[in-house]
Amino acid sequence: MDLGYTLTPWPYGLLVAPDELEMDTDEAIDLLMETIEFVCDFWCLPMPSEFEGWEQALESRHCPGEVPGYQTQLGPHLNWLRCPSAWMEGGLIPLAVVVFASHDDLARAAGTWAGYAYFGTVSLGEGMAPMLTESIAIPYQSFQHGPGILAHEIVHWLQHVFGPEHVVLSEGMARRTEDAWEGDNSFQRMAAVFAESGSLLEVPWPLAYDVGASFTDYVWSQSIHDRVELWESSCSRSTNICEDYEALVDYREEGWRASLSGMEPTEADRVLLEAKLQELTLVQAMLKPVLSQSASDVLSTIYVFQGTQEDLAQFWDLISVLPIEPDEAAWQALEERERTLLHVAMRNAEYAAPPSPSGELLLSTTDVFWLGEVDPGILGPVLGELADLREAGDWPGYYGRYVELLREIIAEGTIYPDLIPWWDPATDRGES
Ligand SMILES: [Zn+2]
Repeated sequence: MDLGYTLTPWPYGLLVAPDELEMDTDEAIDLLMETIEFVCDFWCLPMPSEFEGWEQALESRHCPGEVPGYQTQLGPHLNWLRCPSAWMEGGLIPLAVVVFASHDDLARAAGTWAGYAYFGTVSLGEGMAPMLTESIAIPYQSFQHGPGILAHEIVHWLQHVFGPEHVVLSEGMARRTEDAWEGDNSFQRMAAVFAESGSLLEVPWPLAYDVGASFTDYVWSQSIHDRVELWESSCSRSTNICEDYEALVDYREEGWRASLSGMEPTEADRVLLEAKLQELTLVQAMLKPVLSQSASDVLSTIYVFQGTQEDLAQFWDLISVLPIEPDEAAWQALEERERTLLHVAMRNAEYAAPPSPSGELLLSTTDVFWLGEVDPGILGPVLGELADLREAGDWPGYYGRYVELLREIIAEGTIYPDLIPWWDPATDRGES
């Protein structure tokens, strides 16, 4: 079967590259190995032992049940193989790195534009070959322009060895590593603004990366000579991830705050923090098919630490002006993005939700790829209304509603408890 992809085994799994890219797989594998070495070195972790038996697993990919030692799981779009033995022994599980030709291709496959790369399970489409266990989905650009993002996702892969962890730590450690590769420590400026009034127990989702990177940085700079300890202490051995995180915060928050007190945030820092809180780069990606150059320019200014409060307001003013009616391709590009609203709403609801009594997780990055199967709940009618406006060709009506939803769901992060099956709004309303 011609998949349009070439599958190449590498020491830790499988590289999946689209044929259209004519990618140099040897070069890509070298880069993968180099990135893993960097991450392990940075965290003082030993290099994982290499996996064997790929040829056998690959040959059997059309009948995964026949691979000894592997368990088959059937997803709505794909079959994939799990290797429970490695997992059970606390070892790493093999990693498929799936390269997409562009970020748009990846976003289309994921059903969401709310992410640049993912760690989870990737579907290559119905009837495609089963994927091997965990996957990183990443656009090719990340191979071309330096693998900071690759390093970020590899941290998520390694984190699996140590058990589940709180988002602030898992994303914080990943961002810290990414920024170490890129020599960037601007997360400290964001953290300094946040620390003025925010609590580590209530970090809004979009700030978990920067604030988490700063907290991570502080924790390991303290008594921990061996960074492995941070992994172990930050990852939950018990079933209550939140309680473990709270204990760490209780112990370290004061010192973390003190470590930032010498920094004096500028207005531009505050403006950027607000832009991140509103996820304006995502708003930009959602509007890309019709976004004006002037709105893009305003954001660029903000993201290079040169923005003012007026710029934030101006961005929203600029995007509220109705663009000329788009051509068919742009209409379609907007339509593809609509489900991102559902993803962001579910992600935010899950992050804010009380722990499930049964310990179930609503949405993981894995599920992102299955958003098509997710019950949209309260957002069903909202997305339906948007679709009606689109189908009626009502451009002013559609665009106005679209921007309203960008503001409500992405920028304001409105929480819809109805999206969480176990969340009883009668008792929990008001939490966010
Ligand atoms: Zn991440």
